[in-house]
Amino acid sequence: GDIADGLARGVEGIGATVSDIFFEPVVRLGVTGLSRAGKTVFITSLVANLLDRGRMPQLVAASSGSILSAYLQPQPDVTVPRFDYETHLAALTGDTPHWPESTRAVAQLRLSFRVQPGGLIGAISGPRTVHLDIVDYPGEWLLDLALLDKSYADWSAETLARAKSRDFADGLHAALRGADASARLDEPVAKTLAQVFTTYLQAARAQGFSDCTPGRFLLPGELEGSPVLTFAPLPRPAETPRGSLWREMERRYEAYKREVVKPFFRDHFSRIDRQIVLVDALGAIHAGPKAVEDLRYAMREILSAFRPGRNAWLSQILHGRRVERILFAATKADHLHHRQHGRLTAIMEALLRDAKDRADFAGARTAAMSVAAYRATVEETLTHEGETLDCVRGTLLDSGKQAAFYPGALPEDPARILAAARSGQEAWLDADYRIMRFAPARLTLKPGEGPPHIRLDKAAEFLIGDRLT
Ligand code: GDP
Repeated sequence: GDIADGLARGVEGIGATVSDIFFEPVVRLGVTGLSRAGKTVFITSLVANLLDRGRMPQLVAASSGSILSAYLQPQPDVTVPRFDYETHLAALTGDTPHWPESTRAVAQLRLSFRVQPGGLIGAISGPRTVHLDIVDYPGEWLLDLALLDKSYADWSAETLARAKSRDFADGLHAALRGADASARLDEPVAKTLAQVFTTYLQAARAQGFSDCTPGRFLLPGELEGSPVLTFAPLPRPAETPRGSLWREMERRYEAYKREVVKPFFRDHFSRIDRQIVLVDALGAIHAGPKAVEDLRYAMREILSAFRPGRNAWLSQILHGRRVERILFAATKADHLHHRQHGRLTAIMEALLRDAKDRADFAGARTAAMSVAAYRATVEETLTHEGETLDCVRGTLLDSGKQAAFYPGALPEDPARILAAARSGQEAWLDADYRIMRFAPARLTLKPGEGPPHIRLDKAAEFLIGDRLT
């Protein structure tokens, strides 16, 4: 009624909404990235560090003491799998530390804070509770948004054009040559084509390529083997009679959009307030120029999901709601000596600018950073043939041996990486980038100390800092 309205206006006048004061505010933080980008490790370490707040100096609410306590709570979305925080943390911090199992589908975790707000509000209201709902989901699923605007014919043509020059696509090409798209659908043929196509997508991912739609072919979850995942791109035949392989694949592609893609965007994506996109930029650089170019393309696609008006259907679902902040983070920065972190961040910034040129995020704040959610290395400077090398040292994942490692020097000017990527060349001409996989280090954490990281606190400050003070 009038009183509530008047109160609402008054409260807005002092910079808060009614719900902030009368209810417990909820911030939904989306964590995404392509598979192996580091989502699981990121969430696990973020939560561990937020619970203890022992290593979060750049999160102002933690260092200023306005977070009085932090604790895990049952999430309100009871049908969404819970992010298995305890198991993942035990994997990382146990006696034989190992990396946890990666994200395969959507998962959620609720972390709640008792916060003492400053200023006038704080004086009136005293401590209050803020809930952080962390939503973990595969970036592959975001790429599917682009499918909503694409017909089966367009998607097939684009996918096959990309596969054309890839040597690992031989199996796919052979299978397609043997298939007649205008012939009557034969289920075993459809199944084989879908399997061959899935194998191709997996190979593409393994080679460092990012754009591998449809996302559920790589991470099917409970849909594995269902008709909605039993299709493949086909060259368009002259005739597409009713009941033909082409028509049936087209029907399944449309069902995938309707039954798989849309529900994900409606039920999960549309409710996100803040978003971090994790990117294994070092992995792509190691894989070569083509993988970087593909990453650039995938990042554009991923980020365009956050552009208001990008898709008419999505706009309708969002009702004007939008993600307020998007952080673009290069992960696994502990593979580099900190002297190179600025260069990695510059590459991320260049990729972000490139994506922003196409997608204006209208109101969303964006930033790029280099982080390591779980630091597995220490720095070491070695002298090799009269040259000093800034290395990192850690336990090798394969052999369990300790080794110091020099990954190669990233260029000072990120444009050089992007230009080489655009040129379509096979290998970097002037540099050699290597990558090593380290095992998580064995830790003895003091009480109240979170796991070691690089700039996780800075990332948290950007993403949620304003909601915790
Ligand atoms: P997800 O598929 O996005 O959930 O990726 P994960 O979080 O499972 O990470 C994939 C792999 O990347 C891990 O198994 C680790 O090998 C590596 N990784 C992730 N985060 C870090 C990090 O902060 N430092 C290092 N050195 N490796 C990491």
